[in-house]
Amino acid sequence: MDVQNTLKFNLLQNAFDYLNCSLEFVIKAKKTGENRSWKFALINISVAIELLLKERLRSENALLLYNDINTFKPITRDSKTVSFSTAIERLRFIDDSTLKNIDRGRLSSAQKLRNQMIHYDVELKIPEAYQEYANLFNFVEEFFICFMKTNCDVEEYLQQHINKELWEEEKILNEYFLEEFTCFEGEITHKENKVGVEEAQEYPKVILKDGTKYDRIRYGDEYLHTPYTYPQDYATHLCHDCLTKKGWFHLVRCDMEVCPKCKTQLISCGCLPEYNSCEEQEKACLSKD
Ligand SMILES: [Zn+2]
Ligand SMILES: [Zn+2]
Repeated sequence: MDVQNTLKFNLLQNAFDYLNCSLEFVIKAKKTGENRSWKFALINISVAIELLLKERLRSENALLLYNDINTFKPITRDSKTVSFSTAIERLRFIDDSTLKNIDRGRLSSAQKLRNQMIHYDVELKIPEAYQEYANLFNFVEEFFICFMKTNCDVEEYLQQHINKELWEEEKILNEYFLEEFTCFEGEITHKENKVGVEEAQEYPKVILKDGTKYDRIRYGDEYLHTPYTYPQDYATHLCHDCLTKKGWFHLVRCDMEVCPKCKTQLISCGCLPEYNSCEEQEKACLSKD
């Protein structure tokens, strides 16, 4: 094969190629206002994260990278590597507490975002897309510096792995992260979100179109009211949409909130009274008692 015409990256280079590419999409999205660039920024950073997890497994022991190592067979390029979830479980054997400390809900949101966008449909609210991205971007840096076997500091990390023309955006993202994010119930969340979720707890009732007040359904109790099957641990992490915690109310327009009357998705079931804006609707339909 002609070497000149071959694209070749090792696992780590491939991870950072995706990360750099994701940053390019962030810059493009900000510059052109083209919303679909956010989709590619988020998919690419999620792939970068998955590859970094695998690189860490590989550096511990190359066999950890492969899915089925119980029965001997020669390892080739076609051998199936571990899934995102298995990679996380195996990394926990290496250093569970450090991983937990870096993760704080972010691995699950990377996985969800990627699965949704690749296997389902896409619905991205743009300010939130930037928040999600900044949060995942910070995860990559923390993971690389604290969990890889490289002993490299931030400066070296930048020099070695982030293309120079992207450094400025890297700086902006890091400053944004430090300023805007906080830890809530052990998970990293946007500060505004924390306040919003706390406020939502003051409104245990919702007034529907029929004029009747109903008790709102709490996060983690959805399965008690609907015929759908929820994974057993679905409320272990903060709600993927509004970031409320188990036992608390969702933000009122969260896509996970179940309508207490018809027991389907509250934002789409048609039971909420209609208003000109979401803010107006929220104000009118929530009640403290
Ligand atoms: Zn929610
Ligand atoms: Zn309804």
